[in-house]
Amino acid sequence: MRQPLTIPLHPAASPARLPVNGKRFHIWTIGCQMNEADSSKIAATLQEAGYVSTQNEREADVVILNSCVVRQAAEDKVAGKLNSLFQLKRDRPDVSLVLTGCMVTNQHARLRERFPHVDLFFDPSDFGQLEQIAPEISSLSDDLDQLPHYYADGATGNSSISAFIPIIYGCNFLCSYCIVPYRRGKERSRPLTSVVTEVERLVDSGVREITLLGQTVNAYGHDLPGDVGLAELLRAVDAVPGLDRLRFLTSHPKYMSDEIIDAMAGLRSVCEHMNLPVQAGDNDVLRRMRRTYTRDYWLDRIDRTRRSMPDATIATDVIVGFPGETEAQFLQTRDLLERARCDKVHLAMYSPRPGTLSARWHDDIPAEEKRRRHQELEKLQERIQTEIHASKLGETFEVLVEGNAKGRWTGRTRGNTLLHFADARNVSGQVVPVCVTETSPWFLIGEPAPAFAPA
Ligand code: SAM
Ligand code: SF4
Repeated sequence: MRQPLTIPLHPAASPARLPVNGKRFHIWTIGCQMNEADSSKIAATLQEAGYVSTQNEREADVVILNSCVVRQAAEDKVAGKLNSLFQLKRDRPDVSLVLTGCMVTNQHARLRERFPHVDLFFDPSDFGQLEQIAPEISSLSDDLDQLPHYYADGATGNSSISAFIPIIYGCNFLCSYCIVPYRRGKERSRPLTSVVTEVERLVDSGVREITLLGQTVNAYGHDLPGDVGLAELLRAVDAVPGLDRLRFLTSHPKYMSDEIIDAMAGLRSVCEHMNLPVQAGDNDVLRRMRRTYTRDYWLDRIDRTRRSMPDATIATDVIVGFPGETEAQFLQTRDLLERARCDKVHLAMYSPRPGTLSARWHDDIPAEEKRRRHQELEKLQERIQTEIHASKLGETFEVLVEGNAKGRWTGRTRGNTLLHFADARNVSGQVVPVCVTETSPWFLIGEPAPAFAPA
């Protein structure tokens, strides 16, 4: 079992921590990095209130499930987990079961009917509700927003080196297949100063890499007064002394402006890595997905990024088997991926989500055919990644070391590629120059540069 890491919060920014009260909590999380960040904030809140985390749900006083319903498979996993907790509640009626994340709709009555053993259905944007199962929270701070989103103590399995910070909640797009806007509401950006303060606190605590999060992270600031945008925020965060690396995800192509690309290229800490989901390579499919751009527009944003940062790595998301997607349209997506040569592609098979626009259309691509298209793109991408990684042989990359597994150090390059290397010295949390000696489609292997001496 992973040993908890304790990193004190910045004393000036941390609210008074209550004494340990003997109660234990357990958090189970699936889904995107936003959920991981929310779980970290829940853990931080409970720990500040005197609770202690446990990896064993059977010995916890509070069990929190942070759910995802982006695809049916994720929703099924959450339902399975909830059902498995029936027995725990029967054995120990005093345990508090909490459901949060995207499975929580505003129709609590329906949820209560389906999962009567759950004590609280709570919307992660309203932390005050946690008081219903952890009344100690009320003595913490008048403003729960001041609590950190991240607390590096192992409660949620996050590394103490890297932290996720949500900067914008919700989404104003209405992609026809997507459930997120119905569950997370309209875009709400956090004030710039609040984000910067949180980054300062984390860096003071030893965090070296920050990833700014949002469903449409590059829409940051559109709802704030004045001329605030992601580029301004990147400049403000980059100025925090001691921060090594700054990343952001997920961007929407429509808002990937030249200004943001130029800010990325010009700022010391901002990594040359962009996550820009395209979803499909055919313009008719993109139109029916309500994505608001064309394939050429997406390609133009990638080209512009590579012109400004020749070493930039690009990740994207693709859905196969969208309703009505013909073989010719699928081949357009294949062709786009061949041309773009992304460093990583997150592939998904279309899954109808009740309540969305496309769920009203016939889900006409059979599961078998979705799987075939998925496998074909997987194979293509494996070849592309094999070629891209092979071209890195002999190159040296700065690796921020996140941990050690099976005797090898593991970290990521600025381009977000996994790189493993052996070194008898303790290099945890350090930036190590590593020369690539072996490659695979999924990661690189290397040796520390001879001149490197750990700090
Ligand atoms: N906001 C991001 C964007 O604009 O692309 C993505 C957020 S979404 C929660 C994460 C990914 O899940 C999407 O990029 C998409 O590929 C996938 N996804 C969302 N809805 C889906 C669905 N109904 N079926 C299959 N995949 C889906
Ligand atoms: Fe969903 Fe589209 Fe919003 Fe992304 S931009 S969260 S895919 S609605």
